[in-house]
Amino acid sequence: MKQQLTPSDRNPKAAQLDEIVPAGEPWMGVIKQGHYFRIVDLEGNQAVDTLFYNAHDVSERYSATDTIRSQGNIYLTTGTKLLSERGSVLLTITADTCGRHDTLGGACSAESNTVRYALDKRHMHSCRDSFLMAISRSNYGLTKRDLSSNINFFMNVPVTPDGKLTFADGISGPERYVEMRAEVDVLVLISNCPQLNNPCNAYNPTPVRVLSWAE
Ligand SMILES: [Zn+2]
Repeated sequence: MKQQLTPSDRNPKAAQLDEIVPAGEPWMGVIKQGHYFRIVDLEGNQAVDTLFYNAHDVSERYSATDTIRSQGNIYLTTGTKLLSERGSVLLTITADTCGRHDTLGGACSAESNTVRYALDKRHMHSCRDSFLMAISRSNYGLTKRDLSSNINFFMNVPVTPDGKLTFADGISGPERYVEMRAEVDVLVLISNCPQLNNPCNAYNPTPVRVLSWAE
């Protein structure tokens, strides 16, 4: 499949938010309606597990099912409207120099590490642990029940003709990014995936950079 790449002309020097999220760490923040949010895959092949909520009512959150059905495609890229489970648009992807992002693979957890790899991987740090740590430190009243379907930015999970999910080598590279416009005030919850057992981040978790602009 040919990826359509769409760069952005926003200048990082003019960004009002510019932070590094270290490998394996969570990040949480609010992006105001109409503002732009960019995630940069600094070294390439990093998976960035992400959840979105309406910042004023966190019971409204990103829905993979509604997003896929609405656009009739399983991959996310420029033009994708990221829908909530109530059918309203939380964000729109406006630029993408990677070309494809996954929303089927889910976030890694102690349980999935055990099932996919081995019992002795159970203790290994997972995205679910990072999400739980971040929400326990925040004041949004989020609990583990609020950890629903997520996006894996930069992760390559192609679906084969007979419907199999494959965790494949990344198609991202150093400094590739995805940028989106918030259509409401959005709470962003990121786990910069600490996974060491699959090729989604080349077995080597690396930092990412998050930026935002008011316009
Ligand atoms: Zn993960």
